[in-house]
Amino acid sequence: MGKKAVVIGAGIAGIASAVRLAKKGYSVSVIESNAYAGGKLTSIQLGNYRFDAGPSLFTLPHLVDELFELHGKDPRAYFDYQKLETLCHYFYEDGTVLHTYADREKLFREVREKLDVDSQPLQEYLEHSAYLFENTRHSFLEKSLHKFSTYLSRDILKTVSSMRKLNLFDSMHAVNHKRLNHPKLIQLFDRFATYNGSNPYHAPGVLNSIPHLEFGIGSFFPKEGMHQILTACVKLATDCGVAFHLNERVTAIETDRKKVKGVTTEKEFYPADVVISNCDVKQSYRQLIPAQKAPQKTMNQEPSSSALIFYWGIKQVFPQLDVHNILFSENYPEEFKAIFETQSVYADPTIYIHVSSKVVPQDAPEGHENWFIMVNVPSDQGQDWEALRLQVREQCIRKINRILQTDIESLIETEDFLDPVRIAERTNSFAGALYGASSNDRMAAFFRHPNFSKINGLYFAGGSVHPGGGIPLCLLSAKITTDLIANS
Ligand code: FAD
Repeated sequence: MGKKAVVIGAGIAGIASAVRLAKKGYSVSVIESNAYAGGKLTSIQLGNYRFDAGPSLFTLPHLVDELFELHGKDPRAYFDYQKLETLCHYFYEDGTVLHTYADREKLFREVREKLDVDSQPLQEYLEHSAYLFENTRHSFLEKSLHKFSTYLSRDILKTVSSMRKLNLFDSMHAVNHKRLNHPKLIQLFDRFATYNGSNPYHAPGVLNSIPHLEFGIGSFFPKEGMHQILTACVKLATDCGVAFHLNERVTAIETDRKKVKGVTTEKEFYPADVVISNCDVKQSYRQLIPAQKAPQKTMNQEPSSSALIFYWGIKQVFPQLDVHNILFSENYPEEFKAIFETQSVYADPTIYIHVSSKVVPQDAPEGHENWFIMVNVPSDQGQDWEALRLQVREQCIRKINRILQTDIESLIETEDFLDPVRIAERTNSFAGALYGASSNDRMAAFFRHPNFSKINGLYFAGGSVHPGGGIPLCLLSAKITTDLIANS
């Protein structure tokens, strides 16, 4: 009988960790407090409408495929996805509508025609984005930054030798302002800071590597919507012998002389040689190992942004919209200053509308659409979210009506919402942050909490630890963490 491992939480990093530990010969139990697996990566059903509740942008799909291949299985037997030819539709207040495409020539033509500028700076910008990604991914994203051996690797030497060109000392916005030749393009690329819950005016320019994921490697979408990533991974884990215990909250990680012994839940004690906590790292220290001295640097890190999300079943089809759409703001409304200009949240109440029924028709009844409307907001610091939600909803309606020339409220058939308090309650994420800590200073992006702890046998995986939030980084986090663990 191999050794036992417990994973606390069935978020995507928890499930990926379980799959990887099963391969290492561990007998793995995943303990999840919700009645469902997935954490932030889940679905909402409202009548005949299905919504992706959280993530909607899917990049680096090979990181999901890798989990299946690790066990000698064909990923396509579990789930499939398509590459999106149109990446996003961007709407501006002056009536400009810019479509971004995977095809470079089509993209550059669109920029020349719609913005009336030379596309050469954009071409160079995207090449630079690729350079930033390629020169940082092996050292910053795929390894533990907290192990001495990482600093002896050839990859880190490559990164160090290119340090000068990595824009570590300028903000994302400063670099975008310098490199791009149109305010609309600057705004468009500044927005990539929000992909990890940060502010482009504070986050380091090296994070301009993020657009390369979408524009260079590609944006993808699962054939049945984002939840298919989850259902496929849960099925894989189950096929590999992982046991899921749902509806069961872990209340403590048990230790003996600095060595993990197992976990206690509301129901029983699970002995374990290895424990991986997929629970937010701040909550892990507070709730599960309160006697352990928590690292102050981690506890004091600014949370990433959170979000207000409205799920609307719409009684009409809008041909102007695609699966991903962004409605930019130019005039920053006075009434929103109080909401957005705190905690370094990007002071731009841009609206993101995700319509999965554009590619998954069964997500909405015929002649209808499922709208996921998201506005980035600060994490929960005790704001009056009921009042703020109603204000933001009103603002969204006014803006959508203006830009799409419609009366959207009359078309809403059914609705629900998510706010930072609900996100915190449903995923145990500190302050409802979407991506753990923000990357709003030069080093925060790279020195998140390590994937291991001072307690022998206790590890961390997920969006709140290295290398960060978002599905691809969570999957890398599971890989880095389990690579630190010996075979059973
Ligand atoms: P989480 O999803 O945070 O799950 C942690 C799990 O642990 C939860 O199920 C929780 O119930 C469980 N848990 C916690 N404590 C305990 C305990 N004590 N006992 C038992 N179980 C416990 N990412 C992208 O890549 N693309 C996007 O477009 C994108 N958009 C997003 C939009 C929204 C609205 C949200 C909310 C997130 C978005 N993200 C996106 C981020 C992405 O969803 C997260 O980074 C990722 O899903 C986090 O996974 P995780 O493994 O860290 O765990």
